[in-house]
Amino acid sequence: MERLDAFMARANAAYYAAHDPFRDFTTSPEISQVFGEILGLWAAVVWEHIGRPDPVVLVEAGPGRGTLMADALRAIGQVAPAFASALRVHLIETSARLRAAQAERLPGAIWHEGLETLPLGPFVLLANEFLDALPIRQFVKRGDGWTERFVHEGQFVEMAVECCRGLGDREDGAGSVVELNEPALAIARAVGARLANQPGAALFLDYGPEHSAAGDSLQALRDGRPANPLDAPGTADLTAHVDFEAFANAARDAGAATHGPIPQGIFLARLGLFQRTDRLARMRPVGQAAGLIDAARRLAEPDRMGRLFKAIAFGGPGCPLPPGFE
Ligand code: SAH
Repeated sequence: MERLDAFMARANAAYYAAHDPFRDFTTSPEISQVFGEILGLWAAVVWEHIGRPDPVVLVEAGPGRGTLMADALRAIGQVAPAFASALRVHLIETSARLRAAQAERLPGAIWHEGLETLPLGPFVLLANEFLDALPIRQFVKRGDGWTERFVHEGQFVEMAVECCRGLGDREDGAGSVVELNEPALAIARAVGARLANQPGAALFLDYGPEHSAAGDSLQALRDGRPANPLDAPGTADLTAHVDFEAFANAARDAGAATHGPIPQGIFLARLGLFQRTDRLARMRPVGQAAGLIDAARRLAEPDRMGRLFKAIAFGGPGCPLPPGFE
């Protein structure tokens, strides 16, 4: 028997070690090159805000195929050469297989297992669909108390818990499921504590509700289709919604200023997603141009990825608002 977060960590580590996850799902940087480009420009503006430090660490957590960072670096090289020469690329990645894919596109990058080993000093951190892959715990309201979900032979088993993290104060109905993403909160605290002392900013894009809400959001994709998350661990990608309210509170408690979350569509539109896409489309043959424009719409339209996905940023207290959050 295994607690759900241990099960999810083991299943995802096996999955990312053995599969090309991008056969099962498509992320924003894989949909349009403009996504990574405008995040690169976001980082360049933040670098100006924090006084153009040189050197500066540009870090991405969970870089997948390295597409976002490669697109970001290309755009930075075109419009912000001083930032391009000041930055050092650091990547947080646990999968050896994906590290190899990243190394092909990002020569000179330095890899880390977690945030702890990043060098001290000024930094800009980007992360897309990273938090949703981190292991969650789930608690279920039963009678007057709460149980926690464990996994045993492909089934959930519930064990009574004494009382955990304010669960006792909640007024959820019988059977409600409450999720807790402890690694995400630890990341918010660690990044928040750094920002209380060092210049920098962090940007996370991911999906989930703006406010904490009860609900079971654990999901699995196998061969691109929804699957039972408890079946055949290591053969499906397991994710859960991000609790942005809890995530922001943890960063604020550690001393950072937080901005958002705001819907991804609004954030990307403010950063010039459509203008940049139009400019690019004009230089392409008609068929490709239409594809680029549809890709931008897919990222931004509310009924596609524009509303469920959110952007949230952390910055130093007293720093100017980061682009897109004005
Ligand atoms: N950001 C990329 C990939 C998202 S998939 C994109 O948008 O396309 C999630 C990424 O996080 C993968 O690179 C995966 O290997 C990595 N990852 C998952 N759990 C991790 C962990 N605990 N520590 C570091 N990286 C992790």
